[in-house]
Amino acid sequence: MHPSATALLNRLLVRGKFRHIQVLLKLAELGSIQRTAESIGTTQSAVTQTLAYLEQMLETPLFHRHARGVQPTLACIELLPVGRQLLEGLFESAEVIRLEDHTAFTRGGSVTADHTIIAVDKLKGDISPLADEVFHAQTFLSISEPLTDKDLVRLFPSGKQMQCWDSKLVYTYFRLTGDNRLLVGGGTAITTYLKEAYNNHRIISRVIRQFKKHFPFLEDLAFIQFWPGLIDATRDLLPIIVRPPDQPHLHFVLGSVGLPWAAFTGGFAARNVLGEADEDYKKYYRYFSNRRHFVLPSGLVKIIGKPLMFSLSNGWAKFYQVDHHRKHEEKKGEF
Ligand SMILES: Cc1cc2nc3c(=O)[nH]c(=O)nc-3n(C[C@H](O)[C@H](O)[C@H](O)COP(=O)(O)OP(=O)(O)OC[C@H]3O[C@@H](n4cnc5c(N)ncnc54)[C@H](O)[C@@H]3O)c2cc1C
Repeated sequence: MHPSATALLNRLLVRGKFRHIQVLLKLAELGSIQRTAESIGTTQSAVTQTLAYLEQMLETPLFHRHARGVQPTLACIELLPVGRQLLEGLFESAEVIRLEDHTAFTRGGSVTADHTIIAVDKLKGDISPLADEVFHAQTFLSISEPLTDKDLVRLFPSGKQMQCWDSKLVYTYFRLTGDNRLLVGGGTAITTYLKEAYNNHRIISRVIRQFKKHFPFLEDLAFIQFWPGLIDATRDLLPIIVRPPDQPHLHFVLGSVGLPWAAFTGGFAARNVLGEADEDYKKYYRYFSNRRHFVLPSGLVKIIGKPLMFSLSNGWAKFYQVDHHRKHEEKKGEF
């Protein structure tokens, strides 16, 4: 007979670490050491070692090994719900509520580090006054049922898939998922700049109607789900990356609109922290400074309010902003 779930839990609480619980849950979910290693960014041998350590610590087998993967034992199945609760508890107590010198405090504890990159959304003013530089744009995303082969050919006649968007201030965009569903996103001029989150299906229904006007052959395509959300953005839509002069151990990365920007800004901050950035690469600090030229001063927000401030600056940036940092070099033979 295996030890009771309570006994296993007690052992796990005394000696278990976050990584142990993560491996346990992922192995049970994916049933494969290789896929577990891939999903948490480690090696197969690290997963195997963690599993061996866990089984030794809990003094019971947790998975049956077979040719096609692993299958949880009864003891493991009983342990999974408490493992999930532990992880949720960790997640809920991970919010940074205060920064002091090199230490970030959460409700559950604190972390001290030589360098910290703060790349959170909806930054609060009590963590940094840079919170005033961040605006929120309301957006909606919807997903369709899979397209037929015929519709696919009509939508992408060249056979190449691409992400497409229009040139309006609040643009509508669409692209395909791996299983040939359409993702259509967008919003409306008014709701995009609303101060608070606004969750109403009429907005995305309108975006979809407009989209279908351009592609009447998709009239009967059903959109099965939508998600509303507030995206952090700066006034000119370029991210802000700041290493405050009086806190050089901190990097604030704010307003990265879209996943490509988020990947770049996080990578940029990390390369600088790790000392991998050369002087040429460091020039981007100037581009992303919170003190770069914005057409309207941030103080104006107190008079005209965030929505108007955001939409005016955003509109100006979209149509008139020029890259002043790049020196124009005349090419040979250019007139
Ligand atoms: C409905 C919707 C559809 C979108 N569609 C697309 C799309 O199709 N393509 C695209 O490129 N982009 C899309 N985006 C935008 C994209 O999701 C964001 O621009 C991108 O996720 C920003 O990445 P980020 O890492 O800067 O911030 P986030 O992804 O917002 O991550 C910030 C993290 O910080 C955490 N956090 C916040 N405060 C704290 C704190 N105090 N302590 C600890 N952690 C904290 C949050 O929990 C969160 O996990 C969409 C957004 C929405 C809402």
